[in-house]
Amino acid sequence: MRNPALHARLQAIFGKVIIHNEDEQISLNVSLAQSPLMRGSVVTVAANQVSGGERYAVCCPYCGDRRFRLWLSYAYGTMYRIEQTDVTFSTGLAYCYNENCIGKSYETKMDLFSRIMIGMQPVALEESQHSRLEASKKDIELPPSISLLDPRVPTGALEYLRGRGCDIQELSSRWKMSVGIAIDPATVRDKRPFYSKPALIIPVINHGRVRFWQARWLGKTPEKFADGKDKPKYYIPSNAPKAQCLYNLDAALKSPNVVVVEGAFDVVSVGDPGVGLFQTTPSPNQLSMLVACWGDGKLIWVPDTNDKKSKDPALTKALALTAEWNQRKLFKEGAYVVRLPDNTDPGSFQRKALWELIQQQTGWSYS
Ligand SMILES: [Zn+2]
Repeated sequence: MRNPALHARLQAIFGKVIIHNEDEQISLNVSLAQSPLMRGSVVTVAANQVSGGERYAVCCPYCGDRRFRLWLSYAYGTMYRIEQTDVTFSTGLAYCYNENCIGKSYETKMDLFSRIMIGMQPVALEESQHSRLEASKKDIELPPSISLLDPRVPTGALEYLRGRGCDIQELSSRWKMSVGIAIDPATVRDKRPFYSKPALIIPVINHGRVRFWQARWLGKTPEKFADGKDKPKYYIPSNAPKAQCLYNLDAALKSPNVVVVEGAFDVVSVGDPGVGLFQTTPSPNQLSMLVACWGDGKLIWVPDTNDKKSKDPALTKALALTAEWNQRKLFKEGAYVVRLPDNTDPGSFQRKALWELIQQQTGWSYS
């Protein structure tokens, strides 16, 4: 057997595993020119670009298969280096032969990868999740909004953004932000807008599709609920797949390393190599995306330091998690935490100043 560790892991997850082509080596039929996704020196190889090789067949949990039609190469999740070059292949070689199996979708591949490679417990998807994954192939509808450059945008909103050091033109063209009503078009009939005033509408685009949107309150002082409590500054519709997305993923994929932050304004401060989690720490799915996309590079986490009242501040969590990831060697060039001055978040820095801190503490600069 070529990969007893993977075989044992698959047995633990799927139960019975059937071995095909025992001991055979795979051959790659791929040239760099035809590779579908090339990022830096890493090429991701699809299952159909590989022939032969020992395979492990299991029952695919994504389509309810009982005929052992999900095949994984013994090279699943490993890296190959092409001789005499610095080009590495990252192999995510799994394929379900059942027609219309959602096992072919990006989300499922990430889910499978996280269960096998990051050691999460397997859970078979429910019928409702199947249809949700199917539905998620379309752009979702944004709430009613106007361009940030439209003269009808309330002046207070623009003043607030300029006061934070934002470039309105960049927010509009590069980040596709607009001003609109924070209400989910899908539930518009039975719901009222979350905020009484227009808010910043921030689309979350992953792999070219608008996956969901969030609204950011445009002001220093939060709006109040009827009971006098502060409304949160960010609103995300309740059905948003935020645990499966990273803000700014598409642009960040072009960078060999990634800078992880919490919110959209933090990502805007970082620029292209930044991704936002929408929360303090990554979900299991987000972690597998980070490993799949930047496992060959460096992960740099810049947590907020303005949650002092919290028992378990973001910085503490970031230090503990990166230590664990480094022990497990999830990122080849290491995972780092950048410490900001107390009571700040990345969004409170101008891009240049933030990058000075990142460079000082990690040695990486991006231009
Ligand atoms: Zn399947």
